Amino acid sequence: MIDQKQCEIDIEKVENTKIHDVDFDKLDFGRKFTDHMFYCDFIDDEWQQPKIVPYQAMTIEPSARVLHYGQAVFEGMKAYKDTDGNAFLFRPEDNHRRINISAARLAIPEFPKDYFMKGLTTLIEMDKDWIKSGDGNSLYIRPFVFAIEPAISAAPAEAYRFMIICSPAKAYYTDKVRVIFAEEYSRSANGGVGFAKAAGNYAAQFYPTRLAQQKGYQQVIWTDANTHEYLEEAGTMNIFFRINDTLVTAPISDRILDGITRKSIIQLAEDNNIPVEVRRVKVSEIKEASRNGSLKEIFGTGTAAVISAISAFEHGNEVFEIPDMENAYADLLKKKLVNIQQNQSVDKYGWRYEIK
Ligand SMILES: *Cc1c(COP(=O)(O)O)cnc(C)c1O
Repeated sequence: MIDQKQCEIDIEKVENTKIHDVDFDKLDFGRKFTDHMFYCDFIDDEWQQPKIVPYQAMTIEPSARVLHYGQAVFEGMKAYKDTDGNAFLFRPEDNHRRINISAARLAIPEFPKDYFMKGLTTLIEMDKDWIKSGDGNSLYIRPFVFAIEPAISAAPAEAYRFMIICSPAKAYYTDKVRVIFAEEYSRSANGGVGFAKAAGNYAAQFYPTRLAQQKGYQQVIWTDANTHEYLEEAGTMNIFFRINDTLVTAPISDRILDGITRKSIIQLAEDNNIPVEVRRVKVSEIKEASRNGSLKEIFGTGTAAVISAISAFEHGNEVFEIPDMENAYADLLKKKLVNIQQNQSVDKYGWRYEIK
């Protein structure tokens, strides 16, 4: 156990903030970073002194194992500010739990909870001015850990760096997205790493996603690798289908990531008398539902976009359009979730975490 005293962070502050160089009305997602970053190295079987320093480039050796074997995992989370200037995280302990679940699968040592929470809250407190209040504004937070040991034999590293960097963000994917249901490529397999936020999972999606984009679609909805008959998730988002008035989403598994937005949306839907079925969903069922008019909505859920509505899907060279609808669950549930995140409504779940 690491006690709180040992968890004092070494802090080096910037001399001058860069915040005045940033146009907060024109932010490309994930390109600007706040003044500071957190890091902590794992050496000699121990996490060393955690540090917060000015955001900067760093050096690693060309033989660092991450560059050869992809031993790296990450998290994505957000901080929000209410209209009084108070800053909040959303379910941060779940991100801590999940990065360690991901880490364990990649043979990376777990990062202690008090280091994680203290590093995170100290960093956010220092860069609090970078969080803007108002609709859709947030600070995107990226914790990650990777193998830095300089050695290229194919084995788990003995040295790692854990880091947190932060990037101011505006609302993401405002337009509805058009997607392809995967028929050839797969994102994850039984017994694989699909449930982990492993860096390599995303690299493996870039090529098939680019092929989809060349056909005019923004994303791929992944199907099960065995049969391509069941719909699983979108690769950075979990996926929900509204059939008549019921929401249906696939159960999490070793191929599907346990999204924090997904489980929050399930809870909010149930508490608002929206029936939810967590079960496997067949491609043929969704095509049939689209043909007979019972498919009302498809949307993805994830930290970056919160909820992203889907307006069409392609499968078997056939395109299925999903007409716009009034009182969409996507809008209703997004509003309920964002109101909790931004301290605009009562949080009976204890999901908000105030940074003081
Ligand atoms: C991060 C991620 C999600 C969404 O998870 P949230 O906790 O809701 O942000 C869904 N699927 C994959 C593969 C992901 O990496």
